[in-house]
Amino acid sequence: MNVAKNYIDDFLHLFFPHVCIGCGSDVLNNKDILCARCIDALPITGFISSANNPVEKIFIGRINVQHAGSAFYFTKDSVIQQAIIQLKYKGNQPAGIFLGKLLGHQLTQSERFDDADVIIPVPLNDKKFYKRGYNQAEVIAKGIASVWQRPVINNAVERILFTETQTHKNRIDRWETMEGMFTVTRPDAVAGKHILLVDDVITTGATLEACGQAILKIPDIKLSVATLAYTI
Ligand SMILES: [Zn+2]
Repeated sequence: MNVAKNYIDDFLHLFFPHVCIGCGSDVLNNKDILCARCIDALPITGFISSANNPVEKIFIGRINVQHAGSAFYFTKDSVIQQAIIQLKYKGNQPAGIFLGKLLGHQLTQSERFDDADVIIPVPLNDKKFYKRGYNQAEVIAKGIASVWQRPVINNAVERILFTETQTHKNRIDRWETMEGMFTVTRPDAVAGKHILLVDDVITTGATLEACGQAILKIPDIKLSVATLAYTI
């Protein structure tokens, strides 16, 4: 199994030369995408360990969230933006694993998320999934789970792909809330659990709100939210 894994690592290495995404330095630990200096310079929000942070405020009056937070600030032309572009548009899954681990370390260091049971990545619609070949939120979740030990459940929630007619009919409503964009397909897998819902970036929170709404319809459930980055 390790032989196969190393082979895959070597294969990925061909496409992603082992230099720091931030500064181009080749002084990197194995599988890291950033050098120690660029990791130290990342704009940490501190939200994961603090109550009433700006991400929690986004959800007030919208959905009932136990705790929420983002690991880093997302600013234009930042290293975080570069790394997320790599993950979303350049097929660089190791970048997502790496960033997920950094978020996972923050979760481990904060006690606030201790009673979460499982990790659920926000699902992509099938169209985007097949275009990209993977869901970036799933990759981030995998990175998180490698340091913050919780199971990742990928198939309990699905994103509904509207037909053209439905899109037209519901366009105005959906611009407002995105309500009804998600459905829980395996309620048995999540009932009674405290779920950590994970995504790459939070901006308005509309996607996370819509996904959270679907999850909160299941009885006896608690919801928390964590994202890699927060758009200022
Ligand atoms: Zn660097």
